[in-house]
Amino acid sequence: MNKKIVIAIDGFSSCGKSTFAKAIANRLGYLYIDSGAMYRAVTLELLRRGLFEDGVVKTSTLDSILKEINIGFSFDSSRNSYVTTLNGEVVEDEIRSPQVANHVSLVAAIPAVRTRLVELQRELGKMKGIVMDGRDIGTVVFPDAELKIFMTADPVVRAQRRLKELQEKDLNVTFNEVLKNIEERDYIDQNRDVAPLRKADDAVVLDNTNMTVEEQMEWVDDMVKRLTV
Ligand code: C5P
Repeated sequence: MNKKIVIAIDGFSSCGKSTFAKAIANRLGYLYIDSGAMYRAVTLELLRRGLFEDGVVKTSTLDSILKEINIGFSFDSSRNSYVTTLNGEVVEDEIRSPQVANHVSLVAAIPAVRTRLVELQRELGKMKGIVMDGRDIGTVVFPDAELKIFMTADPVVRAQRRLKELQEKDLNVTFNEVLKNIEERDYIDQNRDVAPLRKADDAVVLDNTNMTVEEQMEWVDDMVKRLTV
């Protein structure tokens, strides 16, 4: 029986972290957790409750909202993948909307939100055999992860990839809007006080600007084999 490990994947927005993380999880039969989806689900809940004022979350009840909120992942056979649920409702498409994308980094900078979600993420990783992607997985959530990967790619290439995904979902956005959102999220994620996006000292860097998913899998294969024997 191979040894089960924790694989932490961090990096900039729209780098293809989830595609890569899912491919690794499939190959190893591991659980894949998209931590960004959890921050997006909290953002959706706050937007639905109308708690943003001038782009800032205005509430004295955030702690109780965070305690009550129930974020999960359930398997959707029609998509052949896991989808995010918020209080039992499938919100996979809604959390990918430009409106959520434009607010999520502000929500992710709130310390109480991070404390609650890190707690949930650690709970999910207890059994090992997990691939989790995000911004602080190797630095904060699982500092002892056996394999840490830090992903990056040219912002223009990232925006092109993201635009294609959004257009496939019939969302009407321009290249410049997508690039602006990516650059803004990178900036906020790197410059926030709590758990800013940075490479863990022991993470390996993967720049996938000119790489296919297959090439990325080849790149990671030997490392995974070595760590799981
Ligand atoms: O990964 P994704 O782009 O879906 O994440 C959405 C946002 O959630 C990021 O821009 C970041 O602000 C936040 N996030 C975070 N920490 C994580 C995962 C996501 O701050 N571990």
